[in-house]
Amino acid sequence: MLTDDFGLYFHIPFCQRRCGYCDFFSTEGKQKLLPDYMRTLIREVKMIGAAGERPRAGSVFLGGGTPSLIDPRQIANLMQEVRRAFRLSPDAEISLEANPGTVDFDRLALYRKAGINRLSLGVQSADDCELRMLERIHTFSGAERAFHDARRTGFTNVSLDLIYGLPGQTVPMWERTLDRVLSLSPNHLSLYALTLERGTRLARAVRRGGLPAPEEDAAADMYELAEEKLAEAGYRHYEISNWAKDGDGKTESEINGSTVAGISRFPKFACNHNLRYWLNLPYLGLGAGAHGCAANRRYANVYSVEKYIERMGTGRTRRFPLSPATTRSHIRAREGEIRETMWLGLRLTEAGVDREEYRRRFGEDYYDRFKKEIDSSLTGGLVEWTGEQEALRLTPRGRLLGNRVFQLFV
Ligand code: SF4
Repeated sequence: MLTDDFGLYFHIPFCQRRCGYCDFFSTEGKQKLLPDYMRTLIREVKMIGAAGERPRAGSVFLGGGTPSLIDPRQIANLMQEVRRAFRLSPDAEISLEANPGTVDFDRLALYRKAGINRLSLGVQSADDCELRMLERIHTFSGAERAFHDARRTGFTNVSLDLIYGLPGQTVPMWERTLDRVLSLSPNHLSLYALTLERGTRLARAVRRGGLPAPEEDAAADMYELAEEKLAEAGYRHYEISNWAKDGDGKTESEINGSTVAGISRFPKFACNHNLRYWLNLPYLGLGAGAHGCAANRRYANVYSVEKYIERMGTGRTRRFPLSPATTRSHIRAREGEIRETMWLGLRLTEAGVDREEYRRRFGEDYYDRFKKEIDSSLTGGLVEWTGEQEALRLTPRGRLLGNRVFQLFV
C-alpha cells in the first residue's frame, strides 16, 4: 500500500568524479569513507526503526550521488537491517540508482541478490560528445552494456534517465538519443531539461562563451517530441518528467484510488517510491543530506559526510522521525500540507489531483478552497477536469508552463 506506510530514502553522497552540470549534494574522492558511512547508515536505520516501533515500509530508494559505488555486500547488510527495523512489505519496490560507468554483470547480479528489484541507470545521452560535455564517466556503449547486463541478471524493472536541452543540442540530435534509448525498451524513462546551476563548470563555460547557451524554445520542442515518440512506443506519461510502460496496470489496492477513463490510475512500471512524493505521502530520509517528511514534520540531515558520521556517533536519541543527524526540522501545518498536495499532485499528468481522495484526506472540496486559482487556470487552458470533474490535471500546454500553475498553490 502507498498510504499507510513509509517510503525509505537513503542518500549516498559519493561520486567517482563530479559531473560538470551537477549541483546535488555529493562528494568526490571520499570513497574511503564509504564503509564507515554504511555502518553509520545502519545505525540510523536501527535508531529510527526503534523510535517508530518498527514502522511499516512500502518502498526503499537508494539515491545519490552514486549508490552503485557501494559494495553489494554492504547493500545486503543494509537491507537485512532494514527488514529487522521496519516491517517491509513483501512486494516493496527497492530501487538503486546506478552510474553505468561503475557496474558490470557480477556487481549487478550481487545487487539483485541483495534484494534490489528496480534499477535506475543514469544514461543521460546516447551521444558520446554530449556525455563528454556533461563530464560523465561512461560512454553510450557502456550504458547499453550495463542495461543488457541488468536484464541478464534478472532486473525486470529498469529505468533510464536522460537530459535534454544541452548546449549545442538540436532536435534531430535529441531524436537520435531517444531512438537509440527506445530500442533498448526500458520499463521506465525519466527525462529532465538541463538547468544551468550557478557555480557549476558547465554554467561557467556557457557564461564565458565556451559553449552556446541552451535555448528554451528548443528544449520545449524536444519535450513535445519526446511526448509524441514515447506515446507511440507505448509509454504512459504519468508525471511531468516521467514515462512508464504499462503491464496489467497497478491494482486498486496498490494505489488506493480510482481509475481515469477506465485505465489504471498509474502505469504498472511507475516508480512507486516517487509516487509517494507526488501524492504527498510520508517518507523517511536517512543519510547525509537526506530530506524526509513524516509525522507532520519536514526535516533534513546535515550536509556533510564527516559531520553525519560524527553526529550519529553521539548516540543521542531523538523523537521519531528525527535522528542525531537532523539539523533542520519544522512542523508542517495543515495549510502547507493542503497546498503541497495540490501542486505536487498536479505534476501527475494523467491522474491529476483526485477530488475524492483529497476530500477524504482533508474533509473539504478543493474547488471550494481554490476556486479563483482553478478558474483562472481553466480559462487560461492550463488545467482541465477529467471525467465528471473527478480530478484536476494539467493540459498539454499546462505541462510546458507547469511552474505558472504551481505558483498559484505554493
Ligand atoms: S554522478 Fe550524479 S550525483 Fe554524481 S556528480 Fe554526476 S550527476 Fe551529480
